[in-house]
Amino acid sequence: MAIDLHTHSAHSDGTQTPDELLAEAAECGIEVLALTDHDTFAGWDEALEAGRRHGVRVIRGVEVSCRTDDGISVHLLGYLPDPGHEGLSTALHEARNARDVRARRMVDLLAADFPLTWADVEGVAGRGAAIGRPHIADALIKRGVVATREEAFEGLLAGSSPYFVPHPAPAPEEAVRLVRAAGGVPVFAHPRARARGRVVGVEVMDAMTEAGLAGLEVDHRDNPEAERGWLRDYAAEHGLLVTGSSDFHGRGKPNRLGEHTTTPEMLERLLAEVRSGLD
Ligand code: AMP
Ligand code: FE
Ligand code: FE
Ligand code: ZN
Repeated sequence: MAIDLHTHSAHSDGTQTPDELLAEAAECGIEVLALTDHDTFAGWDEALEAGRRHGVRVIRGVEVSCRTDDGISVHLLGYLPDPGHEGLSTALHEARNARDVRARRMVDLLAADFPLTWADVEGVAGRGAAIGRPHIADALIKRGVVATREEAFEGLLAGSSPYFVPHPAPAPEEAVRLVRAAGGVPVFAHPRARARGRVVGVEVMDAMTEAGLAGLEVDHRDNPEAERGWLRDYAAEHGLLVTGSSDFHGRGKPNRLGEHTTTPEMLERLLAEVRSGLD
């Protein structure tokens, strides 16, 4: 059974509608797919409906942007949270607003030196999508300033670039508590993704575990192979489940659907941790 628990649609920075995503998943033989757009539940209804049509079971998920005190970016996957939970939905709403303010600042800075407007960026983002650096990258490509998203992320949009502006985000352990409070299951996304910048030390993983973390996304292309062994050991030692996923973004990234998958046993464990929200 092919289970892929981390994918994006155009409701964040993927390039496909949920319908296109589910059609491609069915074509690839994926049986269970989680939609985990950044900081939004906006694609859930479309994905559930498309999943029924294409014969793919859809798990409702979200990828929450977090940041440690010393500025390291952490992504937390939340599976099956109650979308009506006040704390979580408010935090995501604030995150989207903060992203918007931040994206406008970055575009203002870039616009002083390159042919780029806010309208360009809106033009490449899906309607209602929280605008992030990938969209700014796409607008820069359209203007011919860079050739690829990779080139943009390595240069103009890098964390060290004068055009980079950080956006406020909850601490990772706070996000873990929020997802649990909403009845969802929190899984640390690509915990050793060095290519994206600095990664957190074990003390942050300990704090997240203490706060109620349920699992680690071990099989992900951005975790170096050499580090997956100790991640598995850490998970076993702390009773955490282990997932594998593609982090598919459509044409926005080279990641292919189903390139890493989660075992049915781990999916069972994950579903067993979902709280009904009634207590
Ligand atoms: P932001 O959250 O706006 O700072 O942008 C970070 C997002 O950009 C991440 O969620 C990734 O999905 C995406 N990203 C990071 N590096 C790259 C890259 N090299 N190419 C395309 N997308 C990337
Ligand atoms: Fe992304
Ligand atoms: Fe991520
Ligand atoms: Zn992702």
